[in-house]
Amino acid sequence: MTDCVFCQILADKGPVSYVCQDETTVAFMDITPVNSGQVVVIPRVHAQYLNELDDATTQALFLTAARIGAALRHSPVALDGYNLFLADGVAAGQEVFHVHILVIPRRTGDAMKIHAQWLHPFRWELDRQAKKISQAYRELFPAA
Ligand SMILES: [Zn+2]
Repeated sequence: MTDCVFCQILADKGPVSYVCQDETTVAFMDITPVNSGQVVVIPRVHAQYLNELDDATTQALFLTAARIGAALRHSPVALDGYNLFLADGVAAGQEVFHVHILVIPRRTGDAMKIHAQWLHPFRWELDRQAKKISQAYRELFPAA
């Protein structure tokens, strides 16, 4: 997809600070990080949504993200923890429409905040939602 900024990176168009690459995924430094040391992990194949990836690519994507987290902890980059952030859809905050995981180094007291009003649903509501999601899961993945 030629208008996709991540596909342009995959085509070696423009400067990129690569962290690691394999046959399925590429990890590079984010040019607009929330925190210093933030890494973007993408699949080589273009897909907007996570569920468009095959299982092997999904596994590789998350494995690379987890390994980047381990590398951050092992590196001299100062951090107290990290977040994996995947925005799947505009409503979730997706701005680049090529599935990607941000590995965001976190430091105690940093500026990143999750503003939410945490809900406390009744058990019957949780049970009802679980049944609907479970049914959809079985329809999508009958052998799982
Ligand atoms: Zn793309």
